[in-house]
Amino acid sequence: MVSKVTAKAPSSTANLGPGFDVFGLAVDAFYDTVTLTKIKNGIKIITDANIPTNPEKNTAGLVVKNMKRKFKIKQGIEINIKKGIPAGFGMGSSAASAAATAVAFDKLFGLKLDGNSLVEFAGSGEKASAGTVHYDNVAASVLGGFVIVKTNPLDVIRIEPPSNLRMCIAVPTIKVPKKKTKVSRGVIPKKIKLSDSILNLSNAASIVAGFMNKDSELIGNSIKDVIVEPARQHMIPGFLKVKENAIKAGALGVTISGAGPSVIAFAKSSANLKKISMAMSKGFASASTECQTIICKPSKGAVNKRK
Ligand code: ADP
Repeated sequence: MVSKVTAKAPSSTANLGPGFDVFGLAVDAFYDTVTLTKIKNGIKIITDANIPTNPEKNTAGLVVKNMKRKFKIKQGIEINIKKGIPAGFGMGSSAASAAATAVAFDKLFGLKLDGNSLVEFAGSGEKASAGTVHYDNVAASVLGGFVIVKTNPLDVIRIEPPSNLRMCIAVPTIKVPKKKTKVSRGVIPKKIKLSDSILNLSNAASIVAGFMNKDSELIGNSIKDVIVEPARQHMIPGFLKVKENAIKAGALGVTISGAGPSVIAFAKSSANLKKISMAMSKGFASASTECQTIICKPSKGAVNKRK
């Protein structure tokens, strides 16, 4: 009988500009690793990271709680979380813990759940971080590649990204507010102009076409958002300069990763990716902010690790 399972899940970027709360992309930049071990009773969280260890307040803890309840499993579980993804920087950190946990739990108890069910359980864990259930990051982190999240009922459409798609991510070294997701949701307009909605819809549809046709150029130059990005950009020091610099250095499109403050640029593998990353660093430096830059590809999603 299996008594211990380890799974790892990638970071992810949500929205991709106009696909607010709908689009997600798994990115091969950082990974969380979660080991679930059967114990006598209860749910116990062990981690070195500065995240809550109360199971109700930790996304991994909440996933275990919800899956135990759903499948009437009495067994206690110890959750060991190794965080590779910085929490609160718009890289889907809490989602990756939830994704790895759902995948590991499925394996530990031989549930053989399908992709949508794993995403649903992982998404239920997000309540611990964002206060609401949302699926864009967890869907990407569980399934890998590009995802479109349909809700009511939940249905996730996954599309394999083009092999020459690359991303340059700049993670600024700034203090993020504790309730960052809530704060950054609070600044979004409640009403939008029809003309803005049409622009975003045309770009979102083009992004989907770009993934379908394996056309990185179309994906990149459709990363344009006239609704959420303008409302949030003031929360990221130097954002406009970071964006302008990246485009000048050859990026096809640039936007905020998830709720920020990381900024993500899209390009083809043939572009000068180092130049784009350096241009982004200089953009942050113009606002006296340091950043970590990563050049990466889309990721294949969460996997169980063989020990
Ligand atoms: P981001 O997507 O920008 O990384 P999140 O929405 O994931 O940000 O939220 C991070 C918040 O979630 C932090 O306040 C953190 O304390 C909380 N949190 C709860 N559980 C976890 C977890 N397992 N991993 C990371 N953050 C977690």
